[in-house]
Amino acid sequence: MASNPLTPRRSIKQRHPKLPPDNARAILTSAAATARDRMVISWLADGGFRLGELCGLHLMDLHLRENAACGQCRSRHVHICHRDTNPNGARAKTKHSWRIESGSVVGGLIRRVSPSMIHTYFEYMTTEYPVGVEHGMLLVQLTSAARGRPWSPAAARAMFRSVSDRAGIGKVRPHSFRHQFATNILNASRGNALIARDAGGWSSATTVEEIYGHTEVDDPLFSVALETVWGTT
Ligand SMILES: [Zn+2]
Repeated sequence: MASNPLTPRRSIKQRHPKLPPDNARAILTSAAATARDRMVISWLADGGFRLGELCGLHLMDLHLRENAACGQCRSRHVHICHRDTNPNGARAKTKHSWRIESGSVVGGLIRRVSPSMIHTYFEYMTTEYPVGVEHGMLLVQLTSAARGRPWSPAAARAMFRSVSDRAGIGKVRPHSFRHQFATNILNASRGNALIARDAGGWSSATTVEEIYGHTEVDDPLFSVALETVWGTT
């Protein structure tokens, strides 16, 4: 895979062929029909999620207030938890162990959350998320026939196809935002692959983990890189 963000820096100085088109985020956001879709775009762009990770999130995985009860990260974050039994078939690729402790998710893979992600999340939750949903998953279907049922990664991909068609910017794949995120973090951290790796959760699949340590999720350098990418510095 040429997409690994840990490949030498020279390869990312060139424009990666799998990156989204310029301004794709803004263009797609304008063309998106629902708050849910706008949220998905912002979470992919600012969070660098794989689509399976995003569609697999449960509301309980979201720790969107500072100093959450898990004690694992002072900043706002989510826990990406591998589950084999999600009703929409979404699975996080990484299988970091996690558990529920005193009603709070602990463990999994921690991903920091930007102000824009918080904003689009609240817009979605307050205007579209149906009352009385019991499965607890974050992303749900909004059409009247299936309203409230979990939204599958395949449906999310179809949304991307139709929104990018409507926007007239060619086919934009959700995963291209993950490449963009990695590239932006690498640039913002001056090529610090360790920070980029942990920002996007690439750790488990690579042997690099055996060579380097881990970046703390509250590490100041890590925060600076993220905030540069998010435009919040
Ligand atoms: Zn937490």
